[in-house]
Amino acid sequence: MASAAELKRGNLLELINAIWRKESFTKPELAERTELTGVTVHHAVNEWLAAGFVVEQGAARSNGGRKAALYRMNAAFGSIVGVHVGIRGFHVGVYDLRLTLLHGRRCDADLVYNPSVIERLAAEIEAAVRDSGVGAEQVLAVGISLPGQVDYAGGTVLNLTNVPHWRGIPLKRLLEERLGVDVIPDNDNCGTILAAKWLGLMKERADAVYLSIGDGVGTGVMAQGKVVRGKHANVGEIGHMTVDYNGAPCNCGGRGCIETVASNRAVLARLQAALPQAGAAAPRQLADYVALAREGDRTAQRIFRETAAFVGLALDIAVKAYDPELMIVQNDWLPHFPELFAELVDGVYAKSAWLRGGGLTVLQNPIPELEAIGAAALVKERLAAEVAGNPLLARLTATHR
Ligand SMILES: [Zn+2]
Repeated sequence: MASAAELKRGNLLELINAIWRKESFTKPELAERTELTGVTVHHAVNEWLAAGFVVEQGAARSNGGRKAALYRMNAAFGSIVGVHVGIRGFHVGVYDLRLTLLHGRRCDADLVYNPSVIERLAAEIEAAVRDSGVGAEQVLAVGISLPGQVDYAGGTVLNLTNVPHWRGIPLKRLLEERLGVDVIPDNDNCGTILAAKWLGLMKERADAVYLSIGDGVGTGVMAQGKVVRGKHANVGEIGHMTVDYNGAPCNCGGRGCIETVASNRAVLARLQAALPQAGAAAPRQLADYVALAREGDRTAQRIFRETAAFVGLALDIAVKAYDPELMIVQNDWLPHFPELFAELVDGVYAKSAWLRGGGLTVLQNPIPELEAIGAAALVKERLAAEVAGNPLLARLTATHR
């Protein structure tokens, strides 16, 4: 049986989670949602009001009778830094507790690993916090999401397939020594599925997949409300499943991986080969070919359609491997071809007919900044999921005694 103190911490966590998920709440609503007694909720909310974690915002609408006071979480009570590392640069954002961006900066950088990369990351984090106007002491933790395998528990980057020399880098320790604040590194797709959860995209669903088809191809997987990473941080790496044994070499050392046929690099290479440019103009980029296809160029249309078939393969693998009820698809060019995306979704249902009719929802990512926010969502999840050694909860429990 849980001790009285543990029970109290458990209740507290449940309350904080409930507050975090709602725009605003009344004490009776909160008691109903958490199944705690009205007295417990009353005392907790009053103490948080005094501490500044919760603020009052008028009265709830009512059908006669006394109106209940309406409260909301004070999103400015603490701040979160999120660093989203890509292949050619990184984004640093300073967020409030609702994951609203207060200040952000994009930094182009050569990220091939060497110790100066750590110094650059630290310097940009400090500069972003300074420019955001948030006090450094307000920062609860730094989340950092990276395109590859990360040992979440130990904070070590195991391998980034598309960025050389990131092997066994103790990123958490190195940045914590430099910054003096908690640092939480993780795989980027794990962060993004958490952002989807905290920004309400999942609604009440507990099994979801974020499928990203960009420079790389990978998934963030949530099963029964928890991110799944696996023993070697390898869950979700479907981009490196072989679809053609004699295919092109991949950065992972394999051949014919999905990434070699479905990624942005793959489709761009195919388009550039099929539509050679005369003269010395700058090489066309993906957006230029999207425009060409939209203007009716048959060759460009054919190549996007052929590549969509490989994207469909990635969708099918994710459905079969993880059995989600929600799949969020991120891709740079598919939004310009809604008919292709509709065909892809039909293809998924055609191969798994039992999913039709509400069993599985497939949608395109509606929030362009979702991946960047994912880095900050790593911190939010940690704050909401752990009790021991948790700086925010320590501050709250101090006021809750
Ligand atoms: Zn590969």
